[in-house]
Amino acid sequence: MITKNKAYLLKVFVFLFVSNLSFAQSDQVTNSSNLKLSLDKLNVLGSVLYIAAHPDDENNALLAYFAKGKLLRTGYLSLTRGDGGQNLVGTEQGDMLGVLRTQELLAARRIDGAQQFFSRAIDFGFSKTAEETLRFWGKEKILSDVVWIIRKFRPDIIITRFHGTKEDGHGNHIASEILAAEAFKISGDSTKFPEQLKYVKPWKAKRIVWNAWPPVLEKHNVDLSKLVKIDVGAYNPLLGESYTQIAAKARSMHKTQGFGSSAKLGESINYFEPIDGQPAKQNLLEGVNITWSRIDGGEKVGKILKEADEKFDAENPSKIIPLLLKAYKEMKGLKGHYWVQIKEKETLDVIRECAGISIESSSSDFSAAPGESVNINAKIINRSGFPFTLEQIKTTYQKNTQNLNTQLSDNKLVTVNSSIQIPKNAEYSQPYWLREPHGLGDYVVKDQRLIGKPENDPVLETEFSVEAENTILNFSTPVFYRRTDPVQGVVERSFIIVPPVAINIENKDYLFPNDKEKELNLNLIANSDNISGTIKLNVPGNWKVEPPQKEFKLIHKSDELPLSFKVYPPKTSSDVKLTAEAVIGNKIIKQGMVTINHSYVPIQTLFPPSQARLIRLDIKKVINNIGYIMGPGDEIPTNLKELGYNVTLLNNKDIENGNLSKYDAIITGIRLYNTNQQMEFEQPKLLDYVKNGGTLVVQYNKDFGLVTDKIGPYPFHISRKRVTDEDSKVTFTNPNSPLLNFPNKITKEDFDGWIQERGVYFPDKWDQKYQTVLACHDPGEEPLDGGLLYTKYGKGVFIYTGYDFFRELPAGVPGAFRLFVNLISAGKNSNWIN
Ligand SMILES: [Zn+2]
Repeated sequence: MITKNKAYLLKVFVFLFVSNLSFAQSDQVTNSSNLKLSLDKLNVLGSVLYIAAHPDDENNALLAYFAKGKLLRTGYLSLTRGDGGQNLVGTEQGDMLGVLRTQELLAARRIDGAQQFFSRAIDFGFSKTAEETLRFWGKEKILSDVVWIIRKFRPDIIITRFHGTKEDGHGNHIASEILAAEAFKISGDSTKFPEQLKYVKPWKAKRIVWNAWPPVLEKHNVDLSKLVKIDVGAYNPLLGESYTQIAAKARSMHKTQGFGSSAKLGESINYFEPIDGQPAKQNLLEGVNITWSRIDGGEKVGKILKEADEKFDAENPSKIIPLLLKAYKEMKGLKGHYWVQIKEKETLDVIRECAGISIESSSSDFSAAPGESVNINAKIINRSGFPFTLEQIKTTYQKNTQNLNTQLSDNKLVTVNSSIQIPKNAEYSQPYWLREPHGLGDYVVKDQRLIGKPENDPVLETEFSVEAENTILNFSTPVFYRRTDPVQGVVERSFIIVPPVAINIENKDYLFPNDKEKELNLNLIANSDNISGTIKLNVPGNWKVEPPQKEFKLIHKSDELPLSFKVYPPKTSSDVKLTAEAVIGNKIIKQGMVTINHSYVPIQTLFPPSQARLIRLDIKKVINNIGYIMGPGDEIPTNLKELGYNVTLLNNKDIENGNLSKYDAIITGIRLYNTNQQMEFEQPKLLDYVKNGGTLVVQYNKDFGLVTDKIGPYPFHISRKRVTDEDSKVTFTNPNSPLLNFPNKITKEDFDGWIQERGVYFPDKWDQKYQTVLACHDPGEEPLDGGLLYTKYGKGVFIYTGYDFFRELPAGVPGAFRLFVNLISAGKNSNWIN
């Protein structure tokens, strides 16, 4: 039966209309200060590429110094998208976190002025060595990506954040330097990765240097006077800020990592140590010609642009348009050179901005399915007396170009409407690096030309062909969906291509602690009007779904339809994949649709495969009521509900006033004691709860920024020690511990199939009243036995764990479930021996 659920409809409304602030992605006209910088930049033909491993590794002040101070083409290659890190703003993890961090980096680049690149490497978690990192990434694959990006971007200078030794800390950091140094050596060699030469030419940078870390230089007694230095604290009067001030704003965009920053005013010296290539003495760009004379016949262009620069009038920038047009025409004569192509595009922008020409193209909706039509509203206005004529407007997929031949008079808006049809075979707007399934260490990208790009190219672009002094200028802009919000003003989001219907399965994993059937709910979302068809669920033979398929009909775009099915598990343990598909005519849709919506970055939409894991666990349970105090975010409450526990989320007030004794166990979310200031005052209440017979399980906290040092009934000290090898052997330091025996007998097999790591921030010192249970270690290191501490306190039990349950439970690791169930059940074990 088909039902319409009002609550769902309301949710759609909210989803569509609580939108983000404008990110000024459309081509806006800038003020004369910025315009002056853009004009100066037309005469700078040099570039710098900064290479490191993660979002946040970049030196924002140095990027701003090069991009906005020296006006160089400046790039940041972050080998990974930061997929494996923490998230202080939401619940996105893994691929979703990588998408969010990509947008944080792009937001930072909009501030510091650099361009962003990525390789196919995945941030798979902390790694202690470069060897391990390069094994996970696939050294040749990521090296080829670095070479590819160097050949595409053609930097004169390459700068690394790290210097390739243990002092870099993270194995990903060390590997980023190793790959950069090797890529520097071979990118100019046409015998290396020759398959790339279909699209790019070999390119060798002049030099590669390390953006040295002063404490390391001091440690090695390096003579600083011999190194090239740059003051990134310098002030730029056209911008009214120093590069360190710009950097603080850019850095504050790394919000998932809590990197809000304040600017350091005054001198800030950076040092550069040579790695390879011709060493520089005074200036990093020594020996590099960064003027127009680096191109045959370029001097003439340089001279015209210089004259334009000298004649620039901030109050009437359109005065220099004739000179800029002259320079543009000259560039057209120097066909095809790499730098000419870049400068042509920049010159077009400067001409447009000198005329105050604003262009905008808006779609009638934010999405369309393949085969559907979209209305486009294009606007152009000239805010100068300079005569321009609008010749044509054309949007991607538009069949016929509109010939307009319309004068663009001073301050008269011209609006042109059109309709386009999205091709039937158009690809959905899934981020390109997530189109294929991937392993732990690297993404699969089949089209070489996409590698390195931070995000998908816009689906739709509108090109405005404008004539000026017998020259055609093509200005283009991506198409956005725009509306005016009564509170926020203009909000815009990128136009995307969506499947006609999306199938969102409620959970990623379904746990079956016994052979009882479970309800599986999914939500169909219509992305077009009048959609009907059949939805089917597929499972392997020993599982069963009832009913195996259902008919559906959705009338309006954005309608949602919740459907529910029953899943019957087998009698014995089993771990399988369920897939869902919607059949509409001869079309099969196997995608869900999720949105990442945070106010500081543009909305992102992903289309993950609609599938779920079904896990029949062999697990015994003895308690029922659990209180959970969330830290900055984890999914364990959902996982425990899946097991059939009654989970209540507790806030500070509940702890203060509530009757905690009704809970068999209370669990604290990860990093609670790093983020909830109030815990300093609430913790004694929790310890009283333990004293009176409760079980308190505290999950990992970082060693710094703890709100209290009295987390346990007895002292223990949290360190930075961690075990990153998820397959490391786990030994039982106390095999008779109830945690290993009740209610589930834990064996070595329960440590199979863990993901990413064993655990983090293990305590290294503890009061003798605590007992240890497990020990493990990374290759070549001492065993660590502080990852799981327990003690009896009063009538109850206190447990501290650095083991990674917050990763393993959402990943459906059976052994982690069995062990975690034992932890929360510890207080119910009558055979407890302290
Ligand atoms: Zn890093």
